[in-house]
Amino acid sequence: MQALLDYSWDILSLLDGDGKLLYNSPAAQRLHGFAPEEFDGRSTFEFIHPEDAPLVAEVFQRGLAHPGVPVRVRYRYAHKDGAWIWMEAVGVNLLDNPSISAVVVNSRDISDRVEAENAVRQSESHFRALFNNMAQGFALCRLVFKDGVADDFIYVEVNQSFGDQTGLKNVVGRRVSEVVPGIREADPDLLDHYERVVRTGVPERFEVYRNALKLWFSISVYRPMPGHFAAIFDVINDRKQAEEERSQLERQLSQSQKMDSLGSLAGGVAHDMNNVLGSILMLASAHEAMEPPGSPAQEAFATITRACQRGGDMVRRLLGLARHDLSEVKVLNLNALVLEEVLLLERTTLAQVRFSLDLADDLRPIRGDSTALIHALMNLCVNAIDAMPHGGTLTLRTRNAEPGWIELEIVDSGIGMPREVLDKAMDPFFTTKSHGKGTGLGLSMAYNTMKAHRGTLTIQSETGKGTRVLVRLPSCEGEEPEDEAPAPSKQEGNGRSLEVLLVDDDELIRDSMGPVLRAQGHRVVLVGSGEEALDCLKRGSSPDVVILDMNMPGLGGRGALPRIRSLQPDVPVLLATGRAGPDALELTRSFTGVTLLPKPINASDLKAYLDTIEAKPDR
Ligand code: ADP
Ligand code: MG
Repeated sequence: MQALLDYSWDILSLLDGDGKLLYNSPAAQRLHGFAPEEFDGRSTFEFIHPEDAPLVAEVFQRGLAHPGVPVRVRYRYAHKDGAWIWMEAVGVNLLDNPSISAVVVNSRDISDRVEAENAVRQSESHFRALFNNMAQGFALCRLVFKDGVADDFIYVEVNQSFGDQTGLKNVVGRRVSEVVPGIREADPDLLDHYERVVRTGVPERFEVYRNALKLWFSISVYRPMPGHFAAIFDVINDRKQAEEERSQLERQLSQSQKMDSLGSLAGGVAHDMNNVLGSILMLASAHEAMEPPGSPAQEAFATITRACQRGGDMVRRLLGLARHDLSEVKVLNLNALVLEEVLLLERTTLAQVRFSLDLADDLRPIRGDSTALIHALMNLCVNAIDAMPHGGTLTLRTRNAEPGWIELEIVDSGIGMPREVLDKAMDPFFTTKSHGKGTGLGLSMAYNTMKAHRGTLTIQSETGKGTRVLVRLPSCEGEEPEDEAPAPSKQEGNGRSLEVLLVDDDELIRDSMGPVLRAQGHRVVLVGSGEEALDCLKRGSSPDVVILDMNMPGLGGRGALPRIRSLQPDVPVLLATGRAGPDALELTRSFTGVTLLPKPINASDLKAYLDTIEAKPDR
């Protein structure tokens, strides 16, 4: 018995009803460093930490009040060296027991346990702080099954960011279908990932748009315990928007690069083609005029002439595609063009398509080429009408945007476009329409027209939801409409003979136009470049008129014109070009007596142009 007392790790003590120590087993000295006589006659409460003493006293009193019933308490007890030791004691009031007559207390050192508990508590609180301060949202949820199928979930625990990011409050203990009414209908795929993670235990990571919340999420999901899933997420609307804007910019850029390269290709082909057509047209029209009317030869030449004219139209369209310049820029009101267009369409379109106009009264004017704009507008409207074979509404809207800009919207309620079509819609020659119905040039030309006006054209479309084309154009204010360049009048020829210097690098043109000019009674000098033309003038030649091709290697028309003028200040010049670009227009403005000669040209038009030229009086 004594050995048990001597070697136990626990202290056994006997106290009287006041807490005075009657006996301490040897473990007390080992634990607290005090010799047995140092305890003698003292109250055990003297050794207890002042903060814990009231509690211990209270428990002691409870023990006294209930004899035979053990009471338990935790407190810090003094060590002789001044330290405090965490103790736990169980005491029983056996004062009534005649053979014991004491409160029997068994106490033990629980420092290790308290330390461990403190560590756990501390790490808990660290984690809690982390949990609530982390930027990512967190939600622990329990899946709810109905008839064996995942049907809903209940929020078990969420952190602070959960509410900050989603705007949802007081969610714990509630079902998602209750927190966000209608979410199961708006987002039918809501439970897909969660159910799979709960079933397989394999974590998943994904990005998803929740219609009901109008939020993009980036989510990691794992299964912390059976039937539950935990989601760590970020709301990424900003990033998604930035991505969307960037890819839109990229699409616009690649569209514009495509157009540029196609434009220069088309421009190059058109230029050569113009000369080929021009030479055929020139000779055919001249012969047509020479053959007796109604003869087979005359009819054949007439057919060739018509074919050439059609070819010329095609070339002009190609040039339109390459077009980065506008021929007739005037200050105009876009509303007027829209109205004109709608009147035309209303007369020619089936009744099922309703037109809705929403035009800003105070729309700022723009500087533009009305022919090109009407053409573009027409293309956009025809597309919209084509997209509504069973009827619908075509809305045309204009408004002032930020200062310096106006906007035009063409919105239809038609079939819309899937992504693949939308990506290619503006490509030249891309069409989904049957052969003979679509050319695939409508949108690319409209795009180019807007670009030439320093504006933009963008399309939004979704299958089944219609299409919205947005045109933005720079506006101008307080500017006067410009004068149009006077066209040569086609008066009857006076048959004067002129000396013509024809400058063109293309042999076909020289070989066709030369003979025709001669047939019309003129004397012609043919040269193949601006340099040769200058040589010719320096050697003393003094023509009545120079027909100067714009597009030639070397000096070209632009370089040759001023030099020609310095040698022959008054000589009239016909500047031959397939496209009346700003270059050509500027030359006609900066020099008097310079007229544009469109290419290709037929014999009678050429004659009309030459008829406006006066022969030199000294000839
Ligand atoms: P086209 O009309 O000759 O096919 P476009 O360049 O005008 O050529 O249009 C190209 C394609 O873009 C069309 O074939 C069509 O598939 C699609 N598209 C253009 N506008 C619309 C629209 N408003 N609604 C639906 N699809 C359109
Ligand atoms: Mg079209």
